[in-house]
Amino acid sequence: MRSLTVGEPPADVPSPSAAPVARDVFRRAWTELEREIRECTRCPLHANRTNAVIYRGSDAPRLVFVGEAPGATEDREGVPFVGRSGKRLDSAIVEMGLRAEEFGVLNLVKCRPPRNVFVRSAAATCAPYLDRQLALLRPTILVPLGAEALRSLDPEAPRILLAAGRPRRRDGRQVFPLIHPAASLRSRALAERWQADVRALGVWLSRPSDPSAREPL
Ligand code: SF4
Repeated sequence: MRSLTVGEPPADVPSPSAAPVARDVFRRAWTELEREIRECTRCPLHANRTNAVIYRGSDAPRLVFVGEAPGATEDREGVPFVGRSGKRLDSAIVEMGLRAEEFGVLNLVKCRPPRNVFVRSAAATCAPYLDRQLALLRPTILVPLGAEALRSLDPEAPRILLAAGRPRRRDGRQVFPLIHPAASLRSRALAERWQADVRALGVWLSRPSDPSAREPL
């Protein structure tokens, strides 16, 4: 199998706007990408990881939630958003009525930062993996969770409390930011903001004229 180089998507992986990825091409490229991430030593975060945390969800999602970095539970289990924040996110997903085949969940950074302090330089080093994941998954909607995810996916967006709860457009995709679910656990006001923005996302997703709807693979 051909090796994929970080930052250089393989020639057979199209851009989000290109034709659907054939299933066998997808599986081959995804398996190789997972192997590379699990073995990655490109930034210092690899030294502390128990598991690289790569993805959970559909292999043809309409929407991908993009968090920041794994926490302790995610590092232990190797799955994104399975701790307290993950439970809050899962409740929101149920509330919005998203089906399993419609969404995926991942992070900007695949390895847990010490003390859960987000490291921007690690995110920059790790970014080519995210690009390759999105090129294979081909979501038409991205939901950045929190300020760092929004900054990375849409550098021109206003700060998260101004941007959250409304759709934006970036690089041919719809972007609908939310505050980070962990932030919603910190205060009543932020919990109410989270709830209101999740409701707004659910309403927006259910519009009959949703321009992001695309043909299934
Ligand atoms: S955080 Fe990303 S770039 Fe850093 S070691 Fe992990 S997979 Fe590699």
